[in-house]
Amino acid sequence: MNKGTLLVLSGPSGVGKGTIVGEILKRRKAALSVSCTTRAPREGEVDGVSYFFLTRDKFEKMIEEDGFLEYSRHFDNLYGTPRKFVEDKLSEGDVILEIDVDGALNVKKAYPQAVLVMIAPPDRAALRARLEWRGTEDEQVIARRMERADYELSKSPLYDYVIVNDDLGKAVGQVIQILEKGDIIND
Ligand code: 5GP
Repeated sequence: MNKGTLLVLSGPSGVGKGTIVGEILKRRKAALSVSCTTRAPREGEVDGVSYFFLTRDKFEKMIEEDGFLEYSRHFDNLYGTPRKFVEDKLSEGDVILEIDVDGALNVKKAYPQAVLVMIAPPDRAALRARLEWRGTEDEQVIARRMERADYELSKSPLYDYVIVNDDLGKAVGQVIQILEKGDIIND
């Protein structure tokens, strides 16, 4: 029997999902799922904390063994949610997944009671400005991320909630409210 809510947070790169999740975890007990990926670690990323960094062979083996709740491809790399971690943690309490829209919609198919929350920027210009301020990506990468952002946001109508991140404290409060009244996933 599961005790918790499976909360799936998505939103374009640069929208502030990571910050929101960090704030929620300071204020509430919940397990944050660590995804697996075949992409190389960025500076400062720690294996087992940011992601589990896997070789493509290992990732493909896990696919064969049905080890992922969902997985999808981004810019030539694979990303997946480890099934066992999520199922084990749901028997104890709430679980948060921070994954892209394709993954989120697949999770919803597997667990219709999962609660999908889209974090949206106040507007497109604000998102672009945030990607530029990061200063780490060149113009081509920013254009690619904006295109991806348009795709992600176009799926908002399929989400249970859309939260506009124009005020961090308010956005965090809204996600916590959703978690508090969230659906309990019973198996
Ligand atoms: P990044 O490489 O910038 O860390 O992440 C790229 C994209 O992969 C982001 O949109 C992120 O939400 C998504 N992502 C991270 N983990 C997962 C996962 O487990 N499954 C899926 N489907 N997407 C993920």
